[in-house]
Amino acid sequence: MKETDQIKSKIDIVDLVGEYLQLKPAGAGSFKACCPFHQEKTPSFFVSRSKQIWHCFGCGEGGDQFEFIQKIEGMDFPEALQFLADKAGVELPKYDREKSGYRQKLIEINALAAKFYHKVLLESQAAQNARQYLEKRNLSDDSVDDFMLGFAPESWEVLLNFLKKKGYREEDINQAGLITKKERGSGYYDRFRNRLMFPITDIQGKAIGFTARLLDSEAKEAKYINTPQTKIYNKSDVLYGLDKAKRAVQEKDLIVIVEGNMDVITSHRVGVKNVVASSGTALTENQIGLIKRYTSNVAFCFDADSAGQIAMKRGIDMALGGDLNVSVIILQDAKDPDEMINRDPALWSRAIDFRIGVMEYYFDVIKSKYDLKTAAGKKSASRELLPEILKLKDKVEQAHWIGELARLVDVSEQVLRESLPRLKSDAPADVKKGESTPVQKSKNEQAWVKLVSILINRPELIPTVESALHPEYIQAESYQHVYKNIILYYNNARTLSPDEEAEKSEFFSGLDRFVRENSDEGEHELFQELALLGERDWSEVDNRELERELRNIAAMTENLYKQDQRNILTKAMREAEERGDQNEAKDILKKFQQLD
Ligand SMILES: [Zn+2]
Repeated sequence: MKETDQIKSKIDIVDLVGEYLQLKPAGAGSFKACCPFHQEKTPSFFVSRSKQIWHCFGCGEGGDQFEFIQKIEGMDFPEALQFLADKAGVELPKYDREKSGYRQKLIEINALAAKFYHKVLLESQAAQNARQYLEKRNLSDDSVDDFMLGFAPESWEVLLNFLKKKGYREEDINQAGLITKKERGSGYYDRFRNRLMFPITDIQGKAIGFTARLLDSEAKEAKYINTPQTKIYNKSDVLYGLDKAKRAVQEKDLIVIVEGNMDVITSHRVGVKNVVASSGTALTENQIGLIKRYTSNVAFCFDADSAGQIAMKRGIDMALGGDLNVSVIILQDAKDPDEMINRDPALWSRAIDFRIGVMEYYFDVIKSKYDLKTAAGKKSASRELLPEILKLKDKVEQAHWIGELARLVDVSEQVLRESLPRLKSDAPADVKKGESTPVQKSKNEQAWVKLVSILINRPELIPTVESALHPEYIQAESYQHVYKNIILYYNNARTLSPDEEAEKSEFFSGLDRFVRENSDEGEHELFQELALLGERDWSEVDNRELERELRNIAAMTENLYKQDQRNILTKAMREAEERGDQNEAKDILKKFQQLD
């Protein structure tokens, strides 16, 4: 058995989905829930125990265990494979393990270090100051546990010795970024000393590095230091707190990016969990890729000081370039979210709710920066705002803000437009990405939906239609292919008598594999959707009624096909007669008769 099949056989899809969603029974071994992948109030997300697949009839997402984990955890396939293999206790083949083997070791070392620092923070006399500091910052024990905060004591080798005792070699501990080579002589010493430790975790919550904060404000060293780049940690690839924020980000369809780790922890503490930190740097392409797994809406809240504002401006440009919708959160009378939350958590929620668009924000900045009554002020304002307006991809939006700018600096739009560089008006009009409006299915398509969804769930009825309904009669390619595959598989697997429930689910998994192997991805998705649809709609209806339904659909489909053929032949006949082509006309007539 392939590893993927082995994993699937060990992890029941209903149990797996149930770890993430509140499932309610929906009859016949299927369950429903409100879909985590689109906004809805009535459940259209279905998962089937007997078929081991899921599908949302609202947004069309669906698939098996792997697709669910990829989608909800925001993983790619290899990550989901490893994740589910661990869960199922299935060993992946050696080439997969070796690739991740050394990474795995470095992750283990970091995990042990995080635990070590955490224990020191909670229990050691040496961490007295650190504990007082956290208390002063109002950090609860829960937050300290959730984010595994720790303390690195003032020592040159306490962590090194601890990890060596656990059996790790100095070279590997060094590769994990936790120690530094001595400048003189041989050997290593602890990289982090007398610092509050924030483990930085990957998307699955595994520690891959640390940010370390100095508590002693008098000291001359850098206030923050980070793990250097290692095989598992790259500063520009992570967003602090994303592993704990991702579900909330998905639910609220918004990610809030703040500057400091402490802002993230405090915000999570008061239940505002769609918040991550970029660690003071502008966003990178990799971080934007991570964000896009969960949402396309990002709101920035950086410190009001100039360094913060510059970093935010760069982040905004990166995010806009990455096609994200960007907004800005303004804090009234607070320097950062941490300060505001400690004053009143409700203020922070409200600040997020009242976030403003990027252009609005730029206009506000300009208004407070220049005296717009003077000619010089007007000129500077236009100079700074026009390039930002030009970055907008939407023409309508662009026109709106040109109008706003004209009002702001009190000159005519005409004058502003004349000062615009040529290139923008020459640029091709933006093609709006088609927001797919749900298309009403035609009457015929509805019939084929019924036909296929019944047959998948009641294979015993296949002989009823098989002889009456030639696949060619179904004049929609995807339904025709799926129908044909069902007939083919049924005839190959006829030894099965799919009457009992257990055999039915065996029949289904075989059929599912057959369809996957013999059709393209779109058709396989359609097949799974129809399978769940049938389970939802037909499980209460008895075979006699369904048989009648199937016969009607078969007759209707055949009539439709023949009618279309007649129309085609009539047209061809007329053309042949016009040309005076007697032989052709005779052939067509014969075809006509064959249709009856
Ligand atoms: Zn959905």
